[in-house]
Amino acid sequence: MKILVANLGSTSLKWRLFAFTSEEVALLHRGGLERVKDYPSAIQECLEQLKEAGAIEEESELSAIGFKTVLAQSVTGCVALSEEVLKDMEAGNQIAPAHNPPYLTGIRLFAERMPYTPLVGLFETAFYQWIPETSKRYGVPQSWFEAGVRRWGFHGASHKFIAERSSELLGREDVAERARQLYVNQGQSLVKGPSLRVVSAHLGGSSSVTGIRDGVAIGNSMGLSPQSGLPHNNRVGDLDAMAIPYMIQKQGWTMEQVLHDLCSSGGLSGLSGGFNDLRDVQSRAEEGHADAQLALDFLVAEVRRWMGAYYLELGGLDALVFTAGIGENRPQLRKAICRELEPLGIQLDESLNEGCLGQEGFISDANSPVKVLVIPTNEELVVAREVKRFLENKS
Ligand code: ADP
Repeated sequence: MKILVANLGSTSLKWRLFAFTSEEVALLHRGGLERVKDYPSAIQECLEQLKEAGAIEEESELSAIGFKTVLAQSVTGCVALSEEVLKDMEAGNQIAPAHNPPYLTGIRLFAERMPYTPLVGLFETAFYQWIPETSKRYGVPQSWFEAGVRRWGFHGASHKFIAERSSELLGREDVAERARQLYVNQGQSLVKGPSLRVVSAHLGGSSSVTGIRDGVAIGNSMGLSPQSGLPHNNRVGDLDAMAIPYMIQKQGWTMEQVLHDLCSSGGLSGLSGGFNDLRDVQSRAEEGHADAQLALDFLVAEVRRWMGAYYLELGGLDALVFTAGIGENRPQLRKAICRELEPLGIQLDESLNEGCLGQEGFISDANSPVKVLVIPTNEELVVAREVKRFLENKS
C-alpha cells in the first residue's frame, strides 16, 4: 500500500511517499517545492517527480493522500476529508490563519486533480482527545466553551511519534504499543509495568511542550490556537487577553493590525528585533545584541515553565525528549534548558549533548535518574500509519 503524505504551506509543498507491506514501512520518496505561486502546477510537479524517481508508475497506485491537518471546529482524529469536514476546518480559519487556509486550498486542489483517491487528514489536535478536563478548559463562561473557546493542543503527530519512539528507546515496549494503538483503542490502558512519564519538547519554527503518561498526552502548551504557549518564530505565544483591547484603545489600531503583529511579528522575531530563525538569533546574541540574548533566555524560561508544570502533574519524570529543528540541532539551548536541574534528577552529559546534532541519542549522564534524549521527529510517518489504519478499518 502506497500513501503520499503532503505537507501544505502557504508557499510550499513538501511530500513523503511511504510503502507499507504487512511487516514493514519504507520511505520511497521525499521532496518539496518552495516559493510556490501556482499550486495546481506544484501538485502536477510532485506527481511527475514521483514517477520520474520510479516511486510510482501510475497515480492510481496511491491508496490515499494523507494530510497533517491542523484544526477543525468540532472534528478531530483521523478522518476522510469530505466537504463537510472542510467546512468545519473553514470555521477554524480565524483561529489558525497561517495553517488552515493553505491546507483548505491544497486539499481542494488535490481533490480536483485526483477525484478517485481518498484524501484523509490526521488532525494535530487528535493526540489530546484524552487529556483531563482541566487541561481542556479556560476560565470562561460556559457559553464561551460551548462556542469553542477551549484548549486543544497541537503538534499532535510529532508528540505522538515521540511517545512511541521514546518508549521503545527506554525499553518499554508495552507503552510503545499503547502509543501506537492509541487511536484504535481510544485511549484505553494496555500498560502492564510502572507508569512511564515523559516530557516532550518540540522546539522548531513553532514550539510546544507536552506531558505524556504511558504513551498518552496529558496536555500541551498550545491552547485554542497554534499562536499560544511558547514563543514561536514570529508568533506570539501566551499573552494576557487584556493586552489586545488595551493596544486597540491606546494606539487606535484595528483588530487586523493587532493580529498581524501577534501572528507575524511576535515571538522570537518580536523580542530579537526581527530575527525569527534561531540560528540568526543566536549569532546576534553572540555578537552582543542584548535583545537577541533576551529572546533566547525567554524561550528557555518558557520551556522550563511548561516542563515544570508537567513534571508536577506527572509526579516526577522518567525522560525528557528534545525534538524538531531547534531541539535536534541546538546543544546550547538544550544545556540552558537543563541548567541546575540536578535536584530534579536531570543531569546532562556535556559531551554527549554537544555531539548530538540532528540524530537520535541519549544526552544525559549515565547516572542521571531522568534520561534526556534527542529524537528526530517523524510526523509524516505517524500520519501515514494512521491513514493506512483508516483505510483498512473502512474496507
Ligand atoms: P518548522 O516548525 O517550520 O518545521 P523546524 O522544525 O525546521 O521548523 O525548525 C526551525 C528552527 O530550527 C529554526 O529556528 C532553525 O534555526 C532551527 N534549525 C533547523 N535546522 C537546524 C540546523 N541544522 N542547525 C541549527 N538550527 C537549525
